[in-house]
Amino acid sequence: MKKSLIIANWKLNGNKYFINDYIKKLLYEINKNKINNVIIAPPLIYLQKIIEKLKNSNIKVCAQNVDINLFGAFTGEISVAMLKDIGVKYVLIGHSERRINHNENDEIIYKKFKIVKENNLIPILCIGETYNEKKNGKTKEVCYNQINYIIKKMGIKVLENCIIAYEPVWAIGKDISINYLEIQKIHKFIRSKIYLYDKKISKEIVIQYGGSVTDKNIKELLIQPDINGVLVGNSSLNFDIFLKIIKFSKNFQN
Ligand code: PEP
Repeated sequence: MKKSLIIANWKLNGNKYFINDYIKKLLYEINKNKINNVIIAPPLIYLQKIIEKLKNSNIKVCAQNVDINLFGAFTGEISVAMLKDIGVKYVLIGHSERRINHNENDEIIYKKFKIVKENNLIPILCIGETYNEKKNGKTKEVCYNQINYIIKKMGIKVLENCIIAYEPVWAIGKDISINYLEIQKIHKFIRSKIYLYDKKISKEIVIQYGGSVTDKNIKELLIQPDINGVLVGNSSLNFDIFLKIIKFSKNFQN
């Protein structure tokens, strides 16, 4: 069966009350419905609290960011060693909000990717084009270049046990209607490019979609052959909507 992974990216949202309520409901529903493909990406400050709450469950936890250094004089940063120390399994790398708001370029993203891989956590590499790039027919080129930057530096094997999230920048945080076939085409393109390097990796790699995902479009997305799950922002903050998404995704979990 096709793999599908659902990640809730809470971004800069949530508080103790929200977390207690959400995680209690999530644990109940996950057990009741036997769902095993959910990952939560809360703000860094709540990671440990959530990991403790989820310790007897199959829900995994993801950091939204990490520093390029392991330790030292880097005020305000969090290292991959620290994330590993508290039990984090996944790290978002290259989210467009970090590329844009924090000037993270391909070189910085590669360094983050590298340190995450070297420390045996799983990077979720976010890629995607801006609206102007799309308008100018550059979608495939941009996506390929963002992945290829890392492949060129580290070799194709680095994509083993890693996740790619195709997140067109123009679709993030909006409520736009999605062209499923267009998205499927891009996913297929990404997979076909990886195929040229390594057939096995291209078959096994999880390529998620992110951008304006809701309970209304989840079905059309997940039935596409090359979409292995979704990265959900806004809709993951509303528990009832997120529940509908994960319940539907159960049809595609391994
Ligand atoms: C995201 O931030 O990764 C995202 C996909 O956001 P949204 O679902 O709100 O578009």
